[in-house]
Formats: sequence, structure tokens, C-alpha cells
Amino acid sequence: MAGGTLAVGGLQPVVPLHLRTVADARPAPARSAAAEGAADGNADDEDRLLRQLGRQSVINARRTSEKAARDRRAAADRRAAAARRAAASRVAAASRVLAARASRDHARAALAVADSYLRPTSGPLTQPYGSHPGIDLAPPFGTPVVAAHAGVVTFVGEQDGYGNHVEVALPGGYLITYSHLSAFSVAVGQAVLAGAPLGAVGSTGLSTGPHLHFEVMLPGRVRTDPATWLMAHGISV
Ligand SMILES: [Zn+2]
Repeated sequence: MAGGTLAVGGLQPVVPLHLRTVADARPAPARSAAAEGAADGNADDEDRLLRQLGRQSVINARRTSEKAARDRRAAADRRAAAARRAAASRVAAASRVLAARASRDHARAALAVADSYLRPTSGPLTQPYGSHPGIDLAPPFGTPVVAAHAGVVTFVGEQDGYGNHVEVALPGGYLITYSHLSAFSVAVGQAVLAGAPLGAVGSTGLSTGPHLHFEVMLPGRVRTDPATWLMAHGISV
């Protein structure tokens, strides 16, 4: 029998091939299985979706927390920068105060030095004012001679009778002279403070032995007693 699809006789119903095929196919269960398959597929998709959503929410949460951390770091950075600026500003203000104070102290110290008086050399007073136009102070030869007061050097050189001679002009027109020196330590035009070395004790000019001849002139080159002048400024002679 070829095919046997159109068998005749017996109990087997004659069913056209196409119909039997449809009947045999049992479409309902087949559909159900397909639907189940589809449902399974849907469940898989759902799981996948849920997993994805879960992952996404984890990712979102992570992103949120990372952003929060970044924001916190940025805020901390801003606070630190503000603190640094405030500290720098405080340091600058303190520096200005210190600089102003140092400047005032320096000016005060400079004024104090500019206004101070000193004995121009050591040794005893061997010849007073009156017997001659100045005072003689007689330490050993070579003893340093220093400026008795601040001023500007107006003469350095040899002067008749005075030998090696230095003149220092003071503010206000006073003039102070230092004579019979064995050496000079200054030049004309130099500004000196009290205590600045001018030279050394000698015996040049009209002199009988090492000593400093010291004169003080009031404005107009009017001589005055150097001992009195020094004592008036707190210097014992
Ligand atoms: Zn003298």
C-alpha cells in the first residue's frame, strides 16, 4: 500500500489526510504548550528585567552615593580652601601689624641713636675749656675717637695747630671738632651716628703728647665749653 492514507474498509475511519493531520495535531495542547513556553519565556524576560532593574537600582544607588561622596568632598574642599584663605588673610594681617611695629621700633631706635651723646674718647680731662678753646682728654696713643653725636663729616685733614682734624656738623648748626689725631676713619660727606669711629688719638699739630682736643661750637661757630655741653646731655666728663 502506497501511503495508506485512503485505506478503505475496517474500522478505521476514512479521514482526508489534511483533516486527520489537523485532528492528530491536537492543536489545543500544542497551543497550551506553546503558551506555557511563551509564559516561561515571559517569566524569563521578567526575571531578566527584574534582575536588570535590580542591577539598575544598585547602580543607581551606587551612583547616588558616589555623587553624594563627590559633593561631600567638594564641600570639604571648599571649606578647606576657605579656611586656607582665612588663615592666609590672618597671617597677612599679622605680618602687616608686625611690619608696622618693627618700622615704628626701628624709627624710634634710629631717633634714639640720632639723639644720643657719647664721650668721644676715654682718659682724664687734662686741660679744661677757658684756658683754651676746647677740652683735652688724654688716653693712651691710638685709643679710638668716636663721634660724640650724630652728624655729617664736613672736614677731614690737616689744620694749622690742630694737626689731623675732623669736623662733624650737627643738625641745627652745631659743629664739633676732633684734633691731634694719629689716624682717620671717616671721609668728608659721611653721615655718622654717635659712637661711629672717626680716628685714633695722636699728637699731631701743636701738641706735647697724645690727647684729643675736643671743641663744640654753637650755631655761628661760637665756641662753648664741651664739658658743660656733654654734661648737659647726661655724659660725665
Ligand atoms: Zn686742647
